Amino acid sequence: MSKPFDISLESLVKPALPVDAGATQAPAQPTDGGKSFYIETFGCQMNAHDSEKVAGVLLARGYRPASSAAQADLMFYNTCSIREKAAQKVFSRLGEWRGEHTKIIGVLGCVAQQEGEEIFERAPWVRLVCGSASYRRLPELIDELESGGRRVTGLDLDTDETFETEITRRDNPIRAYVTIIEGCDYACSYCVVPHTRGPERSRPSDAVLNEARRLADAGYTEIQLLGQTVNSYHDPSPRGLSFVDLLRAVAAVDGIRRVRFTTSHPNDFTREIVEAIDDTPELCEHVHLPVQSGSNRVLRAMRRTYTREEYLEKISWIRAARRPINVTSDIIVGFPGETDDEFQETIGLLDAIGYDGVFSFIYSPRPNTTASSMSGAIPEPEKLRRLAYLQEHQRQIQMARNAALVGSTQEVLVDSRHAARGQWSGRTSSNRVVNFVSQRQNLLGEYARVRIERSGPNSLVGEHAVDTTGGRHGT
Ligand code: SF4
Repeated sequence: MSKPFDISLESLVKPALPVDAGATQAPAQPTDGGKSFYIETFGCQMNAHDSEKVAGVLLARGYRPASSAAQADLMFYNTCSIREKAAQKVFSRLGEWRGEHTKIIGVLGCVAQQEGEEIFERAPWVRLVCGSASYRRLPELIDELESGGRRVTGLDLDTDETFETEITRRDNPIRAYVTIIEGCDYACSYCVVPHTRGPERSRPSDAVLNEARRLADAGYTEIQLLGQTVNSYHDPSPRGLSFVDLLRAVAAVDGIRRVRFTTSHPNDFTREIVEAIDDTPELCEHVHLPVQSGSNRVLRAMRRTYTREEYLEKISWIRAARRPINVTSDIIVGFPGETDDEFQETIGLLDAIGYDGVFSFIYSPRPNTTASSMSGAIPEPEKLRRLAYLQEHQRQIQMARNAALVGSTQEVLVDSRHAARGQWSGRTSSNRVVNFVSQRQNLLGEYARVRIERSGPNSLVGEHAVDTTGGRHGT
């Protein structure tokens, strides 16, 4: 049987840094004295979870977490270069350490892979540059630095290995992230990922399931499976599980009540995924399916490998499900050559689908991508106009969709408390944010039933419907 989920309000204010120990035993808690580390993370959930694993590597080596960058002996920036701004931010952070000689400063992630040894030219005080496809080499790179090496690099992209760690330091005490697939074999014309994270490689299903069991034993009830194209998963072990097989197997782990997965590629999105959600209550009622554009010409230029019609067909499977599955998406506006009519096709797609949430961005050219040399750049003010228009349009759609839930009762996994507002906050299976009041003193990590009284574009507001939730197996 699983252990009870022991979590306090204090642990969210000051994370307790849960440690998930794997096959090899390692210090479960930071030790006093010795060297310390600090990791600043930019970008997506994949990066956030990579940092958790890198922290695990350091804990296993006897490092302890420092409370600030200034106090750390080893400072890592885990970087993102999906957008230009994020990459610039990293160099501005590095500039703050100009002339620093007492600490080991390292750059990890996409900017590390993209800029490579040029980082040493721009910031000579940096001593480690390592892309995510080489994280398995981190222990040996750190060894080299500790034994007097001046600079080390891990920039190999040509790999079929995944990053397995002895332990993982979990920063989120409510939701545990589990990587199932790394890299990407698609070649979207605007995207740096194939150049920074390497080819697609799936983890053996046994490794994923063992991790899920350990997380359940540690008290986690919600797991989010991660991958740049999570639904392209193919088990490399003799068991040969498909993505859907793996979803069902993780959902069947004793103690796990919710399984999420992100990000799905429309090309690999199948009816079987919808059927699995429909007949497996542990699989959350949410699919994030990035469309990027509603125009077939733009989709072709983006090399997205599906048409608007094929995408809409997949949405129709989701809409035909018995469970009410939320659909969210990513959209890029102002792709080179996008005409106003093509932009309006995207707006039409928002109306046709009625997304529950959209992450929308203006196109920004990234190094080494084919789109960066395409003609037809859209002027910045026009990109911003389109973005604002799209966001306002989508806001109205979300207002209507959320308003339809007023009067319903939703099950919420409570993940935080707003002390000033006297409200608890959590998410539904469909990933909607719900803020609510309750007489209960501590609800963190519990499943609460909440009567929805009001709604906005991005959240719902309500009142705790029953006085007791029964903890991780609450009602
Ligand atoms: S599917 Fe396309 S957008 Fe997604 S990570 Fe791969 S190349 Fe990038």
